[in-house]
Amino acid sequence: MQIEPIFVMQGQEVHAHPYANTLEPEVIEAVAAGVQADYQALAQEKIAPLRCPEHHQAATFTVLNILYVEDEEVFEGDYDIDTCCPEFQKMVAEQLHIQ
Ligand SMILES: [Zn+2]
Repeated sequence: MQIEPIFVMQGQEVHAHPYANTLEPEVIEAVAAGVQADYQALAQEKIAPLRCPEHHQAATFTVLNILYVEDEEVFEGDYDIDTCCPEFQKMVAEQLHIQ
């Protein structure tokens, strides 16, 4: 999936890419790790109130790894949504606007 390169910095949502392309590779790696942690926290917070209408379970969102794609100036990552059933997983994915 392609993660919207938005994360919370000092209380404000910012796009990651405007400055990411000015950074050294090792700094980008550090930023990517920060994006991963921030995105996961943000996503988990966003889905925290959601419960499966049928099973009344909560979902868990995990970013597995994240990479900066220099050509497109975006962060890409794999993710996992742990839910009780596929229907609820679809709801959670829609809530997060991820594909
Ligand atoms: Zn369910």
